[in-house]
Amino acid sequence: MEIWDAFNKSADAFSPNILRVSFMPSLPVLVLNSGSSSIKFSAYEAGNCERRKLHEGAVDGIGTDLGTFWIKDAEGKKLIDQSPALPNRAVAFKLVADALHSGQFPPPAAIGHRMVSGGPTVKENQLITPALIDEMESYTAFAPLHTPIAVYIMRQALLLFPGVPNFVCLDTYFHRTMPEEAWHMPIPEEYTAIGVRRYGYHGLSYESIVHQLAEQTPQRLIVAHLGNGASITAIRNGKCVDTSMGLTPTGGIISGTRTGDIDPGVLLFVLRRIAAETPNTADAADKLEAFASKKAGLLGVSGVTNDMRGLREAIAQGDPRARMAVTLFTRTVAKWIGSFMAVLGGLDMLVFTGGIGENDIASRAEICAGLGPLGIVLDPTRNNVRGEALISAESSFVAVRVIPPAEDLMIVNHVVRLLQK
Ligand code: ADP
Repeated sequence: MEIWDAFNKSADAFSPNILRVSFMPSLPVLVLNSGSSSIKFSAYEAGNCERRKLHEGAVDGIGTDLGTFWIKDAEGKKLIDQSPALPNRAVAFKLVADALHSGQFPPPAAIGHRMVSGGPTVKENQLITPALIDEMESYTAFAPLHTPIAVYIMRQALLLFPGVPNFVCLDTYFHRTMPEEAWHMPIPEEYTAIGVRRYGYHGLSYESIVHQLAEQTPQRLIVAHLGNGASITAIRNGKCVDTSMGLTPTGGIISGTRTGDIDPGVLLFVLRRIAAETPNTADAADKLEAFASKKAGLLGVSGVTNDMRGLREAIAQGDPRARMAVTLFTRTVAKWIGSFMAVLGGLDMLVFTGGIGENDIASRAEICAGLGPLGIVLDPTRNNVRGEALISAESSFVAVRVIPPAEDLMIVNHVVRLLQK
């Protein structure tokens, strides 16, 4: 463990494809990361003193007649490129498993699964057993869009890769250091007692930013993970002290299809309207959930799309609803940055990550536009960039950086650590 800790503090040990860390024989480690309509995967040779990417791939468009399935090698050369019908997740995962068993790729010696939520009881990254899967599945309500496919894939991986140890790596794990005043919700104790609290998500992304910053991790750091799902986290000395997502990933910042934090009265108002025509309580709850997490956010406000690129095109054509959706988004992110500066007592560094954080130059500029009095000033020329960069002006008190997340590498690191145990 001391060796591991020493590595984690080492600034120059990280690069996206090669990472010097462990003291065990070289083994192929497979990472599985499932979304509601996709399964992404990558494999690394994780050995004595390095991480080397072997290949990565994805099967996307589950539930459609025309999905995509591709695998490319570490240099980006496509080894498989297909457009199969993907009626369900069983067909999708079988494609992945068959390809990985074809002999073209080294068989995995261990598998790491990204899991958004393990519920109130599964808090540690650990070896997956059938009982553990059942336990995590019983808390599907904590991450309803993610848990069903993730537990399905875990069960299939145990079946299709017999004898290979599978490990769960949780997005909540990084947030375990939050103090109680950050996670305790203002609700009656009986609900707190059954696990209704702030958990926080995107933890593997946050962890990977701290990992990449290594010795450059400042005392007071805010990371904004802005993707289809968006969240923001306050980090002190490398440890999470507060985060925007709550019991579920629906809380916090407005994102692609989710409300983010909202007056509970809105949900009650909508629920009463739904209940008037939906007498079955479970059906009414499903409809309310669809309202808050599938039909709201950038999609709901714009009426156009949840995708930032599409919104920017609509704005360029003068669409006022698209403009309002993006303004709500950037204004909300700026408000959370301000509130987390209050939590941290100031700020040394702000990091943007995630698809929007890395690529949407205009969103970064709009978020930071009013933050000059808080010491956050972007340099427009430096900000005119996609991918890793320092984008703050010389005059800025706070360093502002763009750093792509490296979630898969964090999962490999956890798998290696757990194998070493
Ligand atoms: P997820 O949460 O699904 O992992 P990502 O982190 O991939 O999502 O982020 C997806 C978001 O990033 C989308 O809104 C997409 O429009 C946005 N995005 C990706 N590339 C660009 C780009 N070049 N310019 C602006 N936005 C982009």
